Amino acid sequence: MLDPISKLGSTAQKLLANRSLLYSWRWFSRFGSASIFWGTIALTIVLWSAVKIPGLALNGQLTPATPKLGETIVVNITATPGKTTPPTVKVGNKTYPAFNLGTDRYRAMVPTTPLERPGDREITIADGTTTSKLKIAVADRKFPIQRINFSPGKAGIQATAMELKEVAVFKAIVSPEKLWSGKFIAPNQGRTSSPYGVRRYYNGEFAKDYYHRGLDYAGGYGSAVVAPAGGKVALVGYEKKGFRVHGNVVGVDHGQGLVSIFMHLSKIDVEEGQMLAPGDPIGAIGSTGASTGPHLHWGLYVNAVSIDPVQWRGNAID
Ligand SMILES: [Zn+2]
Repeated sequence: MLDPISKLGSTAQKLLANRSLLYSWRWFSRFGSASIFWGTIALTIVLWSAVKIPGLALNGQLTPATPKLGETIVVNITATPGKTTPPTVKVGNKTYPAFNLGTDRYRAMVPTTPLERPGDREITIADGTTTSKLKIAVADRKFPIQRINFSPGKAGIQATAMELKEVAVFKAIVSPEKLWSGKFIAPNQGRTSSPYGVRRYYNGEFAKDYYHRGLDYAGGYGSAVVAPAGGKVALVGYEKKGFRVHGNVVGVDHGQGLVSIFMHLSKIDVEEGQMLAPGDPIGAIGSTGASTGPHLHWGLYVNAVSIDPVQWRGNAID
């Protein structure tokens, strides 16, 4: 860039040779550059604060504030405006799907189980522009203990390969549409006879991978089993067709990685693909499969992991 003085004509140069005039010019140029400098800084600050205002940038909110082992951590996200792809949500090396809930709003669900250690979890949300890290402490919880003793030589009922595969495929369903709304209702009118998360000792040995993956209802034989929330029937299996452990079983997809399974039924009232509203009949309580007496086992899964249905009965997760 040319020196502003050299651009002036010779007359002006002569005038500027006058010391006082030259000083005035220098003062003006210095003042002018400073204005541009400070102006740029001010504009940068204004733009930066616009980006940092909550609601305008990537922002995550976790509920419940103090989850207990077995509960679902709900991650509500406000993404950077204009993003068309959902943000990614990671905990450790696991990624959880996030679903759109409206303009720039997304939600992901992170399951926790009795098999995990209590303590801090770091949840990383990224939308391609910004990354946000959130911390949450998962509280410990006492789960009831059951002691089961087998008599020697008694192996118990073994699941068939077909049964294991069909059930695993069902539990891994993640469909984009949210089909539930509000709190879940009880799937049976009986009392709950065994809570979620019970740990076991088999013949005195702690079963470190076992926990009761559901909630049992002790309704009478033949009593109604109904849909606890809206969904689509995605699994129907019969004991006589090889569902030896689950017995007569129905699986309902509630959408967005949330599914329910209903086991040991005496009869089934639904077919695969059928849409259900809360309270719609599914079947009746029985004792089919690996069951010692009439009861309903209701398992609720988030991203293929069994979580405590009690939280979903008590709180609306919309
Ligand atoms: Zn059970």
